[in-house]
Amino acid sequence: MGKNAFFDYAAIVILGLLIISVITRRMLKGRQNRDFLGIAVIAFLTVMCDAATVAFARLGPGYIPQKLIFHTLYLLFHSITLPYYMVFIIHLTGSEHKTLRNPSFRILIPIPLEAEIFVLALNLFTRKLFYFDEAGNYTRGPLFFINYLVAAFYLLVSLYILFRYRKTMSTGRFLSIFLLYPAIATSVAIQYFNPNLLIEMFIIAVCFLYVALVVIRPEENIDADTGFQSFTSYVDSLRQVEVTGKHMVVVLLNISNFRSMYRALGYKSFSNLIYKVAFMISDECIRTRVHAEYYYLGNGRFRLICDNNDRPLVSECAKSIQKKLYDGFPFRDVEISLLTNACILHWPEDVSDEKSIMLFDSQYDDLPYRQGVMYGKEVMRQKNFDILLSLDKILEDALKYRRFEVYYQPIYSVKKKRFTTAEALIRLNTEEYGFVPPDLFIPVAEQNGTIHKIGHYVLEEVCRFIAEDDFPELGVSVIDVNLSTVQCLEKNLAKDISQILGAYNVNPKQINLEITESAATFEYSELMTNIENLSARGFHFSLDDYGTGYSNLSRAMEMPLSIIKLDKSITQVDQDSRLYAIGAHSVRMIKEMKMEVVAEGVETEEVLKKYEEMGCDYIQGYYFSKPLPKEEFKKFILDWNSKNPLPEETGMSGGESVKSAESTQA
Ligand code: C2E
Ligand code: MG
Ligand code: MG
Repeated sequence: MGKNAFFDYAAIVILGLLIISVITRRMLKGRQNRDFLGIAVIAFLTVMCDAATVAFARLGPGYIPQKLIFHTLYLLFHSITLPYYMVFIIHLTGSEHKTLRNPSFRILIPIPLEAEIFVLALNLFTRKLFYFDEAGNYTRGPLFFINYLVAAFYLLVSLYILFRYRKTMSTGRFLSIFLLYPAIATSVAIQYFNPNLLIEMFIIAVCFLYVALVVIRPEENIDADTGFQSFTSYVDSLRQVEVTGKHMVVVLLNISNFRSMYRALGYKSFSNLIYKVAFMISDECIRTRVHAEYYYLGNGRFRLICDNNDRPLVSECAKSIQKKLYDGFPFRDVEISLLTNACILHWPEDVSDEKSIMLFDSQYDDLPYRQGVMYGKEVMRQKNFDILLSLDKILEDALKYRRFEVYYQPIYSVKKKRFTTAEALIRLNTEEYGFVPPDLFIPVAEQNGTIHKIGHYVLEEVCRFIAEDDFPELGVSVIDVNLSTVQCLEKNLAKDISQILGAYNVNPKQINLEITESAATFEYSELMTNIENLSARGFHFSLDDYGTGYSNLSRAMEMPLSIIKLDKSITQVDQDSRLYAIGAHSVRMIKEMKMEVVAEGVETEEVLKKYEEMGCDYIQGYYFSKPLPKEEFKKFILDWNSKNPLPEETGMSGGESVKSAESTQA
């Protein structure tokens, strides 16, 4: 029976399409992609040579030189395929520092391949591997088994590496790769014992298809705009680094004017621009001789995971990328300047686990643009990173051992010339880090879900305070409680809040819930449902942080709000007295909308007077008092009331001027 090349033709079609799809999808960056393309091309060449040998065999006894060339090339490409596959597995598991860069591995492991190539070259003279008989038929020589021995060797080494570093990948991925081994081994065995059944390359081609679909999964792992690896791949790589204990350098490049660029250019042009940026970044890495894996996490955020050996070169590379983007990046006949933050993070000195780097990443995302390359340690100091890292535990303990305290900041009613309300503000004092500001821990609590328990705790403390016998003496009729946006998404929020109030016999009218201005940008209907339910139960709402930049007033107006609180960024006029114009305009607008207005962050008499003149209803700020512990707050209010009796209480006409009470504070 002659050889049948149908399986080879099918393999050519599969591998050809695979190569085309890899190229058209721009899957050309990153070691894993390059390896995959490399093996696919080698397998393609192997099967082409195999098909050529069949074609020449059909032509009859002649064509010996051609037959010799194609058989030799076939065996050459064939011998390279499995060692290349082993390298692919090494890169897939991120274990190159323990293998490819290990001197003994580098010397010993290639020996079988070198020996095989040597025997193949000698075969041109010795005919020990294969030869052509008198009739011109291809015949296996006595050393032919060497091909299979060497193939088995590399298959086993790659299998060993896969098992050794299996923790670097998910079980699903590990099993998908593992399944290939019996398939490849069976196909090799079938062809060894049935030389005329050319099934081996067909099965290998199917295996590649499987790897592309199940292991490489371009939809998930490759970013379509840049061809760089995606966020999922980035997380996988970090996990690998953590498991294998590799040292490396991460470069974080964030285009900080990404949003405005995106809005100005629109999706299509922007993704085009991002592609060019990606191209420039990889070019710069090559130019500065930095070996890097490239990632695009979306929203203008690029990450490079660089070889530890290139540490001295990385800073130059990052600097040059930042400068090129800033100087004006050529795009459609114009130069677009992209303000890019660049930061270098050393692994494991700065961060050594996936969780820390993800936290770092999220903190780094918020940084405003700064020229020059930043270093991990510097950003960590600026962002209180050590506290942030331990916050999960700090919050858990604070809840468990009731370490939170609720402070109260008096709010002055301009009309009543009294402190008629107060804002409850949470405080956290820790043994290790001292006072931890709410601005630092509330976002973490929102992310890890403890905000629900914290919210419960604060509200309970407030209700307990309102229920105290001497509370009515203070003349404070309402306490403001901050409600986090995340709390607003809780299903049973209205029921839970009402239950707490019910337990202390507190009327919903005594509680004013503050929701932050950014809540208005949320699309969730749950949030609106909760607010409407609470409003129907008698709670009042105010919009906090008005003017912090997330304004979506038209949406905010759909909420049942009765008060708007001007953020201190509007009221604190130290740097720019033009802010008064914004303040005055805001107060007028809010009053016209038939709502009340609170000026927050009032620290001086001058600002106080201005806001009184503007017709502001309430004033809150250090001018009157900082937030105080409950007992001090009570003392402060009682003292102030006794020092500032109302006209009807004293018989005096006209209001007294307000005096700073800061001196009375602890
Ligand atoms: P906020 O709700 O806007 O609270 C006002 C913040 O401004 C408070 O900061 C207060 O101490 C501060 N402040 C008041 N007057 C002045 C002033 O004259 N000058 C200056 N420089 N600051 C003033 P604090 O207590 O650090 O709270 C920060 C933020 O943390 C709050 O902003 C609020 O969003 C959040 N927060 C505080 N307590 C809670 C809570 O119990 N639950 C929730 N969800 N968030 C809370
Ligand atoms: Mg507030
Ligand atoms: Mg506020």
